[in-house]
Amino acid sequence: MPAPDEFELIRELFAPLATHPGALDLRDDAALLDCPRGRQLVLTTDAIVAGVHFLADDPSDLVARKLVRVNLSDLAAMGAEPVGMLLDACFARDAGLDWMRLFAQGLAADCAQYGVPLLGGDTVATPGPATFAVTAIGSVEAGKALRRSGARAGDRIWVSGTIGDGAFGLLAARGQGGTLTPSEIEYLARRYRLPEPRVALGRALAGVATAAMDVSDGLVGDLAHVCEASHVGAVVVADQTPLSDAGRAAIAAGLGEGLATALTGGDDYELLFTAPVAADAAIDAISRDLGLRLTAIGTIIAGPGVRVDGPGDRPMALPAQGYRHFGP
Ligand code: ADP
Ligand code: MG
Repeated sequence: MPAPDEFELIRELFAPLATHPGALDLRDDAALLDCPRGRQLVLTTDAIVAGVHFLADDPSDLVARKLVRVNLSDLAAMGAEPVGMLLDACFARDAGLDWMRLFAQGLAADCAQYGVPLLGGDTVATPGPATFAVTAIGSVEAGKALRRSGARAGDRIWVSGTIGDGAFGLLAARGQGGTLTPSEIEYLARRYRLPEPRVALGRALAGVATAAMDVSDGLVGDLAHVCEASHVGAVVVADQTPLSDAGRAAIAAGLGEGLATALTGGDDYELLFTAPVAADAAIDAISRDLGLRLTAIGTIIAGPGVRVDGPGDRPMALPAQGYRHFGP
């Protein structure tokens, strides 16, 4: 059977996901969207490359789903409601139809789960490593987007869910789970492979939080970005970091650098946000409504920098933070 050309691939794999009328069934040159009056568009894109963000033999449905989710996480961090997304798919020339079909199945699963239609994209074959980019489009009430720049001294610092599962999950997925039980390894690896973008939380926080971002590169480093944008500092109480049972087990088992890895490792895709103390009740109500744990982990202060108080209230020394694409 000859390999299908890109037009056949678009018809078979992607057109079924183009459920938005503005996508024109992917039969025109581009999509057409109205921007509802009184709202702003929120645009973001993220790319992933085989060998850098995923392994060529990772199941391709999970590759697609993580790509969708990291983009939705950026929309969540802005407090946006997802509208749709564009996909640039540069499949490895020798990927094979099964790999591409499974990729589209993963994409379909998350388009359905998050109610995000595919609006367009491009489909090409590359002689280099497979590369995929999603551009996510959202909207938010004009002036209500969550920015990184609004944190004020005295605000509490909050995080959703649990922290560190992404970093421990990467170790677990690489077979470096040490003495963890198979179910702990599975839980953590899944958290790494299939993060849950906090879309509903982001939308609920618009108008409540003073600043927000998603935790993709590690809690402490990401908090430093909020502080920089807001011209403030932060004190975090390490002990208050919300951990999953498996995350706690990973620390007990000495994975990575334990709690320091949870605080600085990437791939959690939880929301980090700040809010005045007067918003405590509203935040508790959001947590209850969504059935999502929200934990206060510290306070915004006037001075610059992020300090993490560890055991005995001594500032913790933390390892270098974050992956640097252009680093040594
Ligand atoms: P062009 O020749 O201008 O690159 P294409 O034939 O690639 O146009 O695209 C035709 C239509 O299919 C466009 O609406 C485009 O957005 C859509 N499309 C192409 N590839 C994808 C993809 N991977 N995902 C979603 N839509 C796609
Ligand atoms: Mg094209």
